Amino acid sequence: MIRLTREFRFFWRSGETFDRSSNSWAGSGGSLLAAPFQLLRSTVTGRVDARTGYLVNIQVLDRAMAEFCNEYVAANANGTDLLAFIRTTPNISRHLPDGIQLLESELVVTPYLSLKLVVEPAMDVLLTEQCEFSAAHRLHSNSMTAEENRDYFGKCNNPAGHGHNYVVAVTVAVPALGDVGFSLPTFEHLIKTHVVDRLDHKHLNVDVPEFAGLNPTVENIAGVIWQWLSNIELGGSLRNVRVYETPKTWADFSQPMI
Ligand SMILES: [Zn+2]
Repeated sequence: MIRLTREFRFFWRSGETFDRSSNSWAGSGGSLLAAPFQLLRSTVTGRVDARTGYLVNIQVLDRAMAEFCNEYVAANANGTDLLAFIRTTPNISRHLPDGIQLLESELVVTPYLSLKLVVEPAMDVLLTEQCEFSAAHRLHSNSMTAEENRDYFGKCNNPAGHGHNYVVAVTVAVPALGDVGFSLPTFEHLIKTHVVDRLDHKHLNVDVPEFAGLNPTVENIAGVIWQWLSNIELGGSLRNVRVYETPKTWADFSQPMI
């Protein structure tokens, strides 16, 4: 299957009329606006045209998203909530040519919050929120000798430890239809109390019981956070825990879909 994703960059203003020219590099449409800047992404599938090599012209996708946004803003002049918006995005399909199927749509609200609607195969909204914590750790395996640890983990085995600014992105799925009962402030509070407060400004090997006998690698940190969060009611089903140890290294923990 071939999938194509196009990102539509726009400023969210009441009374705004979007057109394809709204989708400039900076989403500015040629002017400097003090208004919420957001990204809407559509992922589509279909057949690649043998003559052009295109699945669909990206200008068609720009136009479909612009027209969808125009309709939505016109129908919701008094504002909306983000779940209501993302739930409506299957209407983008109305502006797509025959043979082009919308698989996913995603609204990136800030660098730290995004909502993705999985249209196919199941109608779910995947909400991802990012948080940060700073911690020290020492990579050291109790099942290896001191020399083996030094050889294998190198400077990460420094006896006094070292630190990282970790970034955690938690994804939960909420139903795309019906009353979901999801509260972003409650979700944030749960992430803070069950994850950040247990890890932030701690020495993981010393201060966090889960790592007393478990090497605090980024893989194991993701697994431990998953265990903590899987035991509490988040307002949606836990789908993924991503931990960035550095901007170049991250681990995802999830469970296969049944
Ligand atoms: Zn490290």
